[in-house]
Amino acid sequence: MARYCGSVCRLCRREGEKLFLKGDRCYTNKCAIERREGQPGQHTKARGKFSEYKIQLREKQKIKRIYGLLEKQFRGMFKIADNMKGVTGTNLLRILESRLDNMVYRSGFAGSRAQARQLVTHGHLLVNGKPVDICSYRVKPGDVISIKEKSKELTKIAESLNGVEVRKVPEWIELNKGELQAVIRDLPARDQLTHPMKEQLVVELYSK
Ligand code: SF4
Repeated sequence: MARYCGSVCRLCRREGEKLFLKGDRCYTNKCAIERREGQPGQHTKARGKFSEYKIQLREKQKIKRIYGLLEKQFRGMFKIADNMKGVTGTNLLRILESRLDNMVYRSGFAGSRAQARQLVTHGHLLVNGKPVDICSYRVKPGDVISIKEKSKELTKIAESLNGVEVRKVPEWIELNKGELQAVIRDLPARDQLTHPMKEQLVVELYSK
């Protein structure tokens, strides 16, 4: 499937905020958002006023980029969220959070969601003891994510786990660093997702 292959820092600069796409570098002063002002491209100041549509579009692009999804995947998730009971925007975020690649990143086994996707697709992960190599696999409360025995020595996993002191494992995940195992206690409540996201704008955009 086609995937964005350009500079991920450019995506952050386009949205004007940190999207944390590059692992540990995002937490240092090497981050492009901290070092360079303005949007990418030559005419960074001449973007004009933001219409209501443009604001909604940018927020949708931002959330889509945070989770590393393409438009078709993102819209598909929105449809599922829209058909569920409850608040559509919150449903959408909970579905995004329940993806296996996101949970692998949140658990600390990968420094970024892109790295987590690579771990999943290369077959290094187990869910409840069974191999799963589908990034969009939806993890449920009570599921246990672990690393395959033959993959436990991977340097990138050890390096990522070293960074969890900075990135922090969220309270809805119980990480056992020694066993390379994470228990998903629950899916996050809306107020546990601290990255600023205005999901209501996505709902408004897709409801037009
Ligand atoms: Fe974004 Fe991370 Fe690059 Fe900073 S270092 S611009 S947060 S991807």
